[in-house]
Amino acid sequence: MITKTVPLKYLTSIHQKGVVTVNYIEDINELNTDNITIGGGSNILFKNTHTVNKLSNRFNYIKKEGPIVRVGGATPIKSIIKFMLNNSLSCLEFLAGIPATIGGAVFMNAGAFGYEIADFIEYVTIKNSGSETLLEKSQLNFNYRTSNVNGVILEVGLRCKESKRTEIAKKIAEYITERKRKAHIKDTFGSVFKNPRSDLPAGKLIDECGLKGRVKGTAMISPKHGNFIVGNGSVDVDDVLFLIDLAKNEVLKRFSIELEEEVKII
Ligand SMILES: Cc1cc2nc3c(=O)[nH]c(=O)nc-3n(C[C@H](O)[C@H](O)[C@H](O)COP(=O)(O)OP(=O)(O)OC[C@H]3O[C@@H](n4cnc5c(N)ncnc54)[C@H](O)[C@@H]3O)c2cc1C
Repeated sequence: MITKTVPLKYLTSIHQKGVVTVNYIEDINELNTDNITIGGGSNILFKNTHTVNKLSNRFNYIKKEGPIVRVGGATPIKSIIKFMLNNSLSCLEFLAGIPATIGGAVFMNAGAFGYEIADFIEYVTIKNSGSETLLEKSQLNFNYRTSNVNGVILEVGLRCKESKRTEIAKKIAEYITERKRKAHIKDTFGSVFKNPRSDLPAGKLIDECGLKGRVKGTAMISPKHGNFIVGNGSVDVDDVLFLIDLAKNEVLKRFSIELEEEVKII
């Protein structure tokens, strides 16, 4: 295990100010499961001082075995999509443009455009305070941005469909264009809040409170999408937390709806 003090701007997609101590895990026997394990840092905000785990490059791999693609827990979604494209497999195109890892995406049950990653999972290997365990599909439970995975995700088995390369490439391009049109793909951690209902997006409620474009120091509620906060490349966590509280309070006052954070504030 290597321990380093790392600037948060390299570990978070919103490029947060400050530093954090990171244990880069090579051998799972060294894993301290009391520490939070982070992936791509694309849905996380550091409020307190921590030591966090990050799986090392040893957990960044993709292997096709028959109909199943075995993916190491630290593998970026971007690499998986590229692999799928090169092997004419249709699977996670809907996550194109997200700077996440498979571990974080499975833990959060990431979803978009009517799909969830849960739809493609065959098994998950985890490590918690006990031994390494393989959870079969039947033992896994996924809901809107949650899972019952209670350990560090070391490997994921994905089942993908064979498809035409041109079709896969077309879908990837369409989804990325749509993401850029609707929101931001840089200096953000994606959705701040979960949607209170599938037909009631948090972004719409925040928009109706007149908060789009509201600036606090280094952070701003996106002028494009009310449920996104964008930073200035070195964002101060207090500015982001201020805007989160503001949005929550205004939505509660105006609609009597209590928004729940999707972003993990640690
Ligand atoms: C531009 C942008 C667009 C986005 N669009 C979407 C979207 O359309 N849909 C969507 O669902 N999300 C979206 N997100 C949010 C984010 O990408 C997802 O929540 C993603 O699943 C987080 O993955 P991560 O690897 O970055 O995890 P992190 O942000 O590092 O961590 C998130 C959570 O997962 C846990 N975790 C991370 N790795 C592991 C592991 N190996 N084992 C166990 N737990 C782990 C962490 O402890 C934490 O609780 C977007 C983010 C950005 C920046």
